[in-house]
Amino acid sequence: MKSHIIKRLVEIVGVENVNTDPAEIYCYSRDSTPFQYFADVIIRPTNIAEVSKVLKLANENRIPVYPRGSGTSAAGSPLPVKGGMVVDLTRMNRILGFDEENLQVVMEPGVICDDLNEFLKDYGYFFPPDPASSSAATLGGMVANNSAGNRAIKYGKTKDWILWLEAVLPGGEIIHTGSNTLKSVSSYDLTKLLCGSEGTLAVFTKIGMRVQPLPEAYKTAMFLFDDLDRAGKAIVKARASGVVPCAMEFLDRLTINTSADYAGLDIPDCEAMLLIETDGTESAAEKELKIIIETVEKMNPNQWKIAQDEEERNSLWVARKSAYAALARRSVTTTMEDLTVPISKIPEALKRIQKIPERFDNLIRVATFGHAGDGNLHPTFLYDERVPEQRDAFFKALKIIYDEVALDLGGSITGEHGVGLIRKDFVEKEHGPVEMSLMKGIKRVFDPHNILNPGKGKPWGSTGEPEEV
Ligand SMILES: Cc1cc2nc3c(=O)[nH]c(=O)nc-3n(C[C@H](O)[C@H](O)[C@H](O)COP(=O)(O)OP(=O)(O)OC[C@H]3O[C@@H](n4cnc5c(N)ncnc54)[C@H](O)[C@@H]3O)c2cc1C
Repeated sequence: MKSHIIKRLVEIVGVENVNTDPAEIYCYSRDSTPFQYFADVIIRPTNIAEVSKVLKLANENRIPVYPRGSGTSAAGSPLPVKGGMVVDLTRMNRILGFDEENLQVVMEPGVICDDLNEFLKDYGYFFPPDPASSSAATLGGMVANNSAGNRAIKYGKTKDWILWLEAVLPGGEIIHTGSNTLKSVSSYDLTKLLCGSEGTLAVFTKIGMRVQPLPEAYKTAMFLFDDLDRAGKAIVKARASGVVPCAMEFLDRLTINTSADYAGLDIPDCEAMLLIETDGTESAAEKELKIIIETVEKMNPNQWKIAQDEEERNSLWVARKSAYAALARRSVTTTMEDLTVPISKIPEALKRIQKIPERFDNLIRVATFGHAGDGNLHPTFLYDERVPEQRDAFFKALKIIYDEVALDLGGSITGEHGVGLIRKDFVEKEHGPVEMSLMKGIKRVFDPHNILNPGKGKPWGSTGEPEEV
């Protein structure tokens, strides 16, 4: 990067917040996918004025800008595929206020999800979206990816809680989308458009969201099955039971064994586990769990049990939430995929996923877990990216996951992780040419020079963007 640009960046954010050290650049070169790209410079702004000036400079000089939170993306979405600047938003991490009368919280984008919930707990409230990465994921990253997680089945995704956004456009202009009120239809819904935009339309600098009173009680049950198909059918039946649980998670044998070992839990060997939780008042949560148990029992689980206390509930959740980290200890490379299928297709999806490794002489392994209650599965591939045959088998398996499972069963290529790099070859297959051209048009309106997160699948798909947009 030219020295006069670096000099100008130093003037904007201060010398301590501009870094070109190769070791530092290396640290920003990856997320949890097998891709690696290097930026020219890392910038760490601390306020909106700095973000605006950095973007204006980048836009005038046509330098790619990659916004980044904690880098927990499972899609390659923050990676600097075209070099340029990574703008790390984690220093903008203040909770700016909680309005208890209007049930709204305002924060900067670098606030970590668990820290926000720790803060809200003292007031008796919570922000429901709960990705398994909640101890690291920033709210900016969650808005950009419209993240969801364990509780989406009952409480929805990040976008369902965001009322307004303050954001900087690529030219440096500052916009305020949405409204402080719970209802407003006075414009196109730009807030919802930005939620899930994967850092390609604007950089968020302030987030206003509504929150939810904490439930009085949680009731949690674990069901073990020796047959994958029956577990899949139990999910379908439980979803149709009339109860909307606050979580309905699925883990297969490899995930259970690995996570139980990691969390120090004694779980008998089995093919599948369902973790189902209800919440509300003590009596409502109990009544709803009873209905779930009666329904799931009809599918003959080998065993089931109710968590007897908070400690037991927590240890089950530690096992589920640490699934990816636990699997990562078993393999050089662990790549988590993200498809959704209609609920009724879960048993068939599970069957097709489990058969993938044998199509590659078991060169790669697959462990599947996920938010089964909303049809969202995370087949996670274990392999060694340094071995060409294994890497090649992984990319072929990816094609099977999206072409032969997700799309063939009428689902979507990503439920919550986003398109990023890893799913860019499949986005047109799901959306077709007309929707793709609408998305490209939106991108051109927000970012005419294509400086914001260029090279990604949203909105360009597999064809990539034209040289000069
Ligand atoms: C172990 C593990 C478990 C996970 N579990 C879940 C899960 O249950 N549910 C789920 O939905 N996801 C999950 N994820 C995916 C990931 O954690 C989420 O997408 C998360 O919200 C990303 O936040 P981040 O701060 O790490 O963002 P990053 O990874 O840094 O960035 C993600 C995207 O957001 C953009 N971005 C970041 N900040 C801003 C900003 N201020 N303005 C504009 N764009 C911005 C980036 O450009 C990028 O496109 C998991 C990931 C891992 C590794």
